[in-house]
Amino acid sequence: MLSLLHEIACIMRVKVWQMLGLIGLIGAVFCATAAPRAEHVLIISMDGAAPWVIRDTPMPTLRQLAREGAVTWQAETTLPSVTLPSHASMLTGVTPSRHRITWNDWRPTNGVIQVPTIFAAAKQAGLSTAMFVGKIKLYHLLQPGTVDRFDFAGKDSNNNDASEQGYRSADGDPRNRARAVAARAADYWRRHRPNLCFIHLADPDWVGHQYGWGSPEQRRSLQTVDAALGTVLGAVRQAGLRSQTVVIITADHGGHEKGHSKGIPADVQIPWVAWGRGVRAGTQLNLPVNTCDTAATALWLLDVAPLLPLDGKPVTAAFR
Ligand SMILES: [Zn+2]
Repeated sequence: MLSLLHEIACIMRVKVWQMLGLIGLIGAVFCATAAPRAEHVLIISMDGAAPWVIRDTPMPTLRQLAREGAVTWQAETTLPSVTLPSHASMLTGVTPSRHRITWNDWRPTNGVIQVPTIFAAAKQAGLSTAMFVGKIKLYHLLQPGTVDRFDFAGKDSNNNDASEQGYRSADGDPRNRARAVAARAADYWRRHRPNLCFIHLADPDWVGHQYGWGSPEQRRSLQTVDAALGTVLGAVRQAGLRSQTVVIITADHGGHEKGHSKGIPADVQIPWVAWGRGVRAGTQLNLPVNTCDTAATALWLLDVAPLLPLDGKPVTAAFR
């Protein structure tokens, strides 16, 4: 009788283990085939777009995206609040002390960033990637083999004429660079549908340094940027990707007077708007958001594992 009970107990145990194994297998299959939160993530950086200037500038497209999305106008960039280190944090998820891009101009001999960018992680996961930038120094963020299409203001990475001069002669006034960058990015979206894309609209920074933050000239450049947002989003819609895409619109720093490197709130505060698939529409984000969080959010949305521990965290409160 005892041995019979023992035998039944053994059979039951085997069954339990088999069941657990089966559940695990189903779970693994489910996880392996579970869709990412978004098929496409588009990060748009409006260079030098300070929330205090945006507030009183007609930017209907940005305002509509903010209304339909999740927003904070009090996100913060990393210090120093300057273009290249800030974009490096935005696109790696780590602070300048870790990514070590501490300079802010184009220095070819310095080479490329040494920590993996989100493009490196996305590429390793088999995704397609693209960058469209308006300043040559962002070449420092281009790690070999990580970006399918790198476009500097109308010149792609196969073109060796990587110089500001080359751009100026080709496209004229650098203050209208956002228009050119957006047009090329829009064209690329219609044809190639990248999974992860970064678009950099430089104009408000150029104009701010020349005429001042909050000047009528800079407000006009922000309107140009707003039109550029419309161009790009139109292309996302035309590509049929509206329902699969998350767009994050932000900036590398704000500014005051004719600069942005003092580290005061006007320099450090940046907009952060998430719009699109799975976003909690009409959400005011009442939590600290840092530019490192942009990288973390992009990878989380795409279900791509970071290649190093990040200082940023996904802004999960923005999503359902
Ligand atoms: Zn900048």
